[in-house]
Amino acid sequence: MKKRILLLAGGQSGEHEVSLMSARSVLAALPRDQFDVTPVAISKQGRWLPPTDTRQALENGSAESGGDLVLHRVASAEGYDAVFPLLHGPMGEDGTVQGLLTLAGIPFVGSGVLGSAVSMDKVMTKQVLASAGIPQVAWRLAVRREWSSDADDVRARAAELGFPLFVKPANLGSSVGISKVHGPGELDAALDLAFSLDRRVILEAMTASRPRELEVGVLGNDAPIASPVGELRFAAEFYDYETKYTEGRAEVHIPAPIPEDVALRVRELALTAFRALDCAGLARVDFFYLEDSGELVLNEVNTMPGFTQTSMYPKLFGAAGLGYSELVTRLVELALEER
Ligand code: ATP
Ligand code: MG
Ligand code: MG
Ligand code: MG
Repeated sequence: MKKRILLLAGGQSGEHEVSLMSARSVLAALPRDQFDVTPVAISKQGRWLPPTDTRQALENGSAESGGDLVLHRVASAEGYDAVFPLLHGPMGEDGTVQGLLTLAGIPFVGSGVLGSAVSMDKVMTKQVLASAGIPQVAWRLAVRREWSSDADDVRARAAELGFPLFVKPANLGSSVGISKVHGPGELDAALDLAFSLDRRVILEAMTASRPRELEVGVLGNDAPIASPVGELRFAAEFYDYETKYTEGRAEVHIPAPIPEDVALRVRELALTAFRALDCAGLARVDFFYLEDSGELVLNEVNTMPGFTQTSMYPKLFGAAGLGYSELVTRLVELALEER
């Protein structure tokens, strides 16, 4: 019998459009002889669109309005074998939708509430990974209330890290709201921007020099495997939104041209991080590699990485011999696996 799959896409975060692109690819790739897929787009207002409006949204690349409230939809989601919450960022990748699906008793692709929530928040991720002995850059947390009541204290935290530094909303992705701050004069604008998007903001020391950027895929539940390591190269000062989503701005190298022992360590660290964060199904783990010193630091863990045919995660497993359709099929199998 065919498995009935509910594919969720869009959502309320700054990564709405990216999610719809990923979903279009996954929808086209899930084998029709095995799966009966219903796509449901979530509008920017958080309403769940009926399938006809969803097809329109997938074509347009944006779901602006219409739809039902989430609880009506979850109730009618009964009868699906699994849900593929192909949502990036807050209200999707952060444990909220995962909590809803857990309550509804419907298996779903990817990490559960704990792994999703902890991995989404860059500060919580750093705290958990530090206790697992994983190398990371120095960082400080600031919350919105501190920025409005004691801005000097927040500025002092930044000064402790030195410039340049990175200011990031703690719970976002696709580089949305991230600034590289070259000196104190640029700090306030960066913090204003980050706090307009999140209550929690992370200040991060920059790596000692411009790093090489390595990414690795992890696939599995309690016995996860790591993909080959990939490298991103681009001319921009850092891997910003434009560079990520403008055709031709970044080059992907798989496998990354790095020493064997570095690749091995990247894969080991990724698996350690995946377990420490209680991830499941899939994750893409991003690293900085300082070629001169040989230093490797873990940057972040993405529990629902970009998933178009040309996104890094599917490409990494493609290089390992697992095609896109096989990969999404495997993810649904993992969602249905007894744990
Ligand atoms: P994703 O789309 O992968 O989820 P994100 O929005 O979560 O990304 P990060 O990966 O944390 O953002 O940062 C985006 C980019 O900014 C990195 O790929 C890198 O180019 C640059 N960057 C971030 N933090 C640092 C740092 N501490 N030192 C050097 N470069 C950094
Ligand atoms: Mg991220
Ligand atoms: Mg992300
Ligand atoms: Mg990243």
